[in-house]
Amino acid sequence: MNNKYKILVIEDDVNIRTLVSTMLEANGYQAILAETCSAARIMYDSYVPDLIILDLGLPDADGMELLKYVRCASLTPIIVLSARTDERDKVLALDLGANDYVTKPFGEGELLARVRASLRNSRHSSDEGRLPGGRFSLGDLIIDYDARRVFLCDSEIKLTQTEYNILAYLSEHCGKMLTYSAIIKAVWGGHTEEGSIKKLQVNMANIRKKLGIKPGEAKYIINELGVGYRMDG
Ligand code: CA
Repeated sequence: MNNKYKILVIEDDVNIRTLVSTMLEANGYQAILAETCSAARIMYDSYVPDLIILDLGLPDADGMELLKYVRCASLTPIIVLSARTDERDKVLALDLGANDYVTKPFGEGELLARVRASLRNSRHSSDEGRLPGGRFSLGDLIIDYDARRVFLCDSEIKLTQTEYNILAYLSEHCGKMLTYSAIIKAVWGGHTEEGSIKKLQVNMANIRKKLGIKPGEAKYIINELGVGYRMDG
């Protein structure tokens, strides 16, 4: 019986398609391949993959169309793998429901780490509906959701209500890249304005400082400039 994770790779460039599928197969995943949006729809419907790696520049349609198609049907994690580096493309893809965005050229280790994080995240959110009780842990960081307390290496980190709400929201979506507007909406319930992004950045800087993360260090909270934040080890 085949119980490997099935990953649908949608990519028209044969070199990248081969590279990604070889890398996935070598790491214990089953790769299913599609070169076009229309082939991808058929593959998606018939294989029900556990994760999708999606190129945006496809011959028959924009990959964003496939993103919308899948999101109408399911929460299957989607990692966009694209040569488009513009912040607006990243934000659009994430707002349409992509879990993460990796730009080409990419490092194999980096892509595999994002795959693992997205699969972890989807297993976590399959418990949706359950109250976020219990605990969250990532490395030395522990969040006690019931008590709304945060610990690092067993000592308590004192956060403000807002700082806690931001950190808890990121942890509930660990591994997923969240846009500024998604975080602001979850924490303040308001619209995305320049002022609220500033407010978010100030709070995030304080959280990072309290967690002992040095400027520029990619630990616990990863900042994608101009796009958003992702919690990860
Ligand atoms: Ca392409």
